Amino acid sequence: MKTEKLVVLGGGESGVGAAILGKDKGMKVFLSDMGKIAPHYAAQLDAEGIEWEQGSHTPEKILDADLVVKSPGIPPTAPMVRAIVERGIPVISEIEFAGRYTDAKMVCITGSNGKTTTTMLTYHILSDAGLNVGMAGNVGRSLALQVARSPHDVYVIELSSFQLENMYDFKANVAVILNITPDHLDRYDYEMQNYINAKFRILNNLTCEDAFIFWQDDPVIRRQLEQVTTEARMYPFAEHIEEETRSYVNDEDNLVIDTPATSMEMPRAELALNGLHNLYNSMAAGLSACLLNIRKDDIRRALSNFEGVEHRLEYVATVNGVRWINDSKATNVNSCWYALESMPGGTPSVVLILGGKDKGNDYSEILPLVSQKVKAIVCMGKDNAKLMEFFGKEVPQIADTHSLEEAVEAARSFASDGDTVLLSPCCASFDLFTSYENRGDLFKEAVRRLS
Ligand code: ADP
Repeated sequence: MKTEKLVVLGGGESGVGAAILGKDKGMKVFLSDMGKIAPHYAAQLDAEGIEWEQGSHTPEKILDADLVVKSPGIPPTAPMVRAIVERGIPVISEIEFAGRYTDAKMVCITGSNGKTTTTMLTYHILSDAGLNVGMAGNVGRSLALQVARSPHDVYVIELSSFQLENMYDFKANVAVILNITPDHLDRYDYEMQNYINAKFRILNNLTCEDAFIFWQDDPVIRRQLEQVTTEARMYPFAEHIEEETRSYVNDEDNLVIDTPATSMEMPRAELALNGLHNLYNSMAAGLSACLLNIRKDDIRRALSNFEGVEHRLEYVATVNGVRWINDSKATNVNSCWYALESMPGGTPSVVLILGGKDKGNDYSEILPLVSQKVKAIVCMGKDNAKLMEFFGKEVPQIADTHSLEEAVEAARSFASDGDTVLLSPCCASFDLFTSYENRGDLFKEAVRRLS
């Protein structure tokens, strides 16, 4: 059935993009947002002549739709979404909607951690090699808007589990799952399997022409692969080669990427991004690029000159011999594990700033690395009781702070020449900050004031 009346729920980047694409395809579009729409999006909708509302949902207008595009931030349990589903009106994501109007090749990246880094790195390789490529999903501009107004031949798309939930016929050409560790379980009835199933939707509709890239050593992915079938060609990556590994590090410490089309190597030391987690991200991006027939020299160059992503293990400054690192995006325990893993060994020399809004975290995962590498912990949050209790006996020094200024001051006093202060909080930022970006920006400003 041809869609005539499109309703878009959510007036952010993806919703506004979907509304514009719908308009361009001749649909009558109505956009509704329960919250407040940012002024630049409101202006964009007005300039396009698209009808919209904010602060409430008008049922008569919404339940009259043939199709609803829902922003990934709105949970399926929201009363309006329930009412739409009860009426039998299909609810899809912006990516699903945009996918209907393009034949571009799609490289789709999901995982609990590393999505943005890998998406930006892959985009960097492809654009540096001269491809007409767009970046979409959680990063970059909305896919729908690009499809409508500035179409590309290839898209690199970061997909969260929320986005994958409302995808049905969409098909990737290259699908990547970097890892699966507990996250957002509050949205999945505290059932890990529901979250895993959402991530694995990235494999929907893959054919034998398509590729599935994944971390071979991830126990969750391995277990799930015993239960699902896919026709896609498999491209597992791992630090050490096993049967069928297509990207690994060899005995000469070279990163190897091995696909039917290309086989290439480069010294691991030349990778722009450091740490084991970034080795994996580089493997996933390198495999994707090989599968799109990018020349080896172009891949090597781009993997070695990528400038990194803000708030992810971002070097800020060295002050009095102390290195300050901003990893504000580490909003769960697993990403902090990788941050600590990438820190130097030997005598404990890390001052770790932790804390914020706890998402039901189990800190035992990082305990071995904390014992090995951390000399002091600074808890930074409204309520640090859980952290103080858990780590109090585990580290020689711990501070209980309730603002960024206090935390930076405590970290400065604990750190001496040769140490590293690492902000890798394991928690969401919303108790003291507006976002992880805001937390990272303020941290960087405070550090720069020290120098
Ligand atoms: P996402 O988009 O999935 O949230 P990011 O690339 O923004 O991932 O990185 C988020 C955090 O996870 C950062 O703190 C980063 O250092 C860490 N990280 C990056 N890649 C990985 C990985 N492959 N495995 C585990 N942690 C990672």
